[in-house]
Amino acid sequence: MQHSIKAGEHGPLGVPMAHAVETCVHCGFCLAACPTYQEFGQEMDSPRGRIVLMKQVLEGSLAWTEAQPHMDRCLGCLACEPACPSGVPYRDLISPFRAVAREKMERTSGEKLRRWLAELTIPHPGRFRLALAGAKVGRAMGGLVPEMLRPMLSLAPAKVPDAVTLPSVTAAQGERRARVALLAGCAQQVLDPDINVATIEVLTRNGIEVVVPQAQGCCGGLSWHVGNLPAAQAFARQNLNAFPADVDAILTNAAGCGSAMHEYHLILRGTPDEARAAAFEKRVMDVSVFLMKLGLREKPQAVQVVGGGAGGGLKVAYLDACHLANAQGVREQPRALLRTIPGAELCELANAHLCCGSAGTYNLDQPETASSLGAQKAQAVLATGADVVASGNIGCLTQLKVHLEKLGSPVRVRHTMQVLRDAYRAGEAEKAGK
Ligand code: SF4
Ligand code: SF4
Repeated sequence: MQHSIKAGEHGPLGVPMAHAVETCVHCGFCLAACPTYQEFGQEMDSPRGRIVLMKQVLEGSLAWTEAQPHMDRCLGCLACEPACPSGVPYRDLISPFRAVAREKMERTSGEKLRRWLAELTIPHPGRFRLALAGAKVGRAMGGLVPEMLRPMLSLAPAKVPDAVTLPSVTAAQGERRARVALLAGCAQQVLDPDINVATIEVLTRNGIEVVVPQAQGCCGGLSWHVGNLPAAQAFARQNLNAFPADVDAILTNAAGCGSAMHEYHLILRGTPDEARAAAFEKRVMDVSVFLMKLGLREKPQAVQVVGGGAGGGLKVAYLDACHLANAQGVREQPRALLRTIPGAELCELANAHLCCGSAGTYNLDQPETASSLGAQKAQAVLATGADVVASGNIGCLTQLKVHLEKLGSPVRVRHTMQVLRDAYRAGEAEKAGK
């Protein structure tokens, strides 16, 4: 698309944004893949429409606030990227645009408060835990809580699991085949700390030593996706310094975190840390990718205690997290891992490309759209008749739990690593005759 954007006027992120705009040929193939185009049915809420809006704003011919509602409605799910035959790097446009637009957008005081609270708490496990405890009180207060904050209350779990302290190093079982460092994830370690426990167990069972750097922080994804570039840069730098060089890979088990860490070169673009960030992110991969690369040394033996059906088999629906499938291109590896479980039958969801509506803080900022997408995803899971639904992102797991519970569904919602770990343990229990 032709444009007259003066990239230099928009700081270090100007060039990637201008490049993304000029790659778009306006063909419209991306429209059918976009969840918000499906929800709102208008061009300005499609990828193509948003690219035009961002182009006009960056050129200076459209007011920032004119584009704002449509930019706010974008999930950042990147379903538009694999659908685009011209290879438009939409990720190089949307988050950078939000970063340069942050000061120019108009927000009500309620919106500002909600965004401030989310950024103040979610990336910090201690504060997030406190905030969830506060949400319990808030729920009891019901109508006294300002309307703007109610989505936060409705998404907070009724019970927060006890905190788990992960060891700095967990030795490999048997002969060591590899050594990795794990990002513990900030919201994940509060909402479901067992995911990290399961991940470490699966890795160590397969001869992989796991280091959990104690100085690590949030991946920076939440800040990046809401346009808070200075905060995203601070988190990125913290992790560049915290993760050791003497590991075979830096692993993530939350798709949103992995995706953000793969964008450190963009987050730190134009700073002295840019080259270091580019080298760092090459070492980052999802845990499923690393396990499939190395190969499982120990195969799971049984499925019974992971919630199998009456016939003893286990029907597992796999939910593609957008930031794993679209942002990192990881689709096959988690499925391949689940297929190693004897008796497990993997099933696919209808409209699998559509985001579940979680999308970072989207379900707080755009609760109606998020809720509509979450309900559709829960219905798609139910339609499969699955016993368990597995995914690789805490946001998707939380969103799905909320919507399956609303439907009164008994389907269990688990991280892929939890399903695998449970299968390993079930195999052992079976062997021991328990
Ligand atoms: S499919 Fe790609 S090139 Fe075509 S309109 Fe969408 S973003 Fe532009
Ligand atoms: S990121 Fe998702 S919601 Fe945003 S334009 Fe692309 S497909 Fe649509």
